[in-house]
Amino acid sequence: MWAFIGDSGLRLVYQILLEEVRIKGISILFPFRCDSPNYARHMTMAMAPDRNGAVVISTEVDLEIAWQFAAPPSAPTRNLCHRCRSFQLNGKGVPVVAALSSQLVEIGTDTILSVLCRACQTEDRRNPIDDWNTVLDSVVAQQ
Ligand SMILES: [Zn+2]
Repeated sequence: MWAFIGDSGLRLVYQILLEEVRIKGISILFPFRCDSPNYARHMTMAMAPDRNGAVVISTEVDLEIAWQFAAPPSAPTRNLCHRCRSFQLNGKGVPVVAALSSQLVEIGTDTILSVLCRACQTEDRRNPIDDWNTVLDSVVAQQ
């Protein structure tokens, strides 16, 4: 799957989503855009946990509008902190799943940048997290 996602910000989003589904065992549903040369396509993606840590991903086209009738995407740039895993929106950290499902951030149009937010820059000096897998392992072990 990762070979098809060349963009590092987007790869971080999917990595976080997959881990949320695997570790918390939750299902996620969010709208996203997957435009083609001829159509603006509004789609929904569902991610659900399956056996043995597998994740079932399904997508559905909700609306397809020919570009001649569609507004061009606004394509804002969004900062995603790779440490606390939150989008930085109006100075506040919004967790990835919440940001996507409430359409504050839209995959497929928004440009996503992997950053270290201000709070984490301060936190990083006190309590460095070098390896997220170690953190995730400890989370799983506590459950
Ligand atoms: Zn952060």
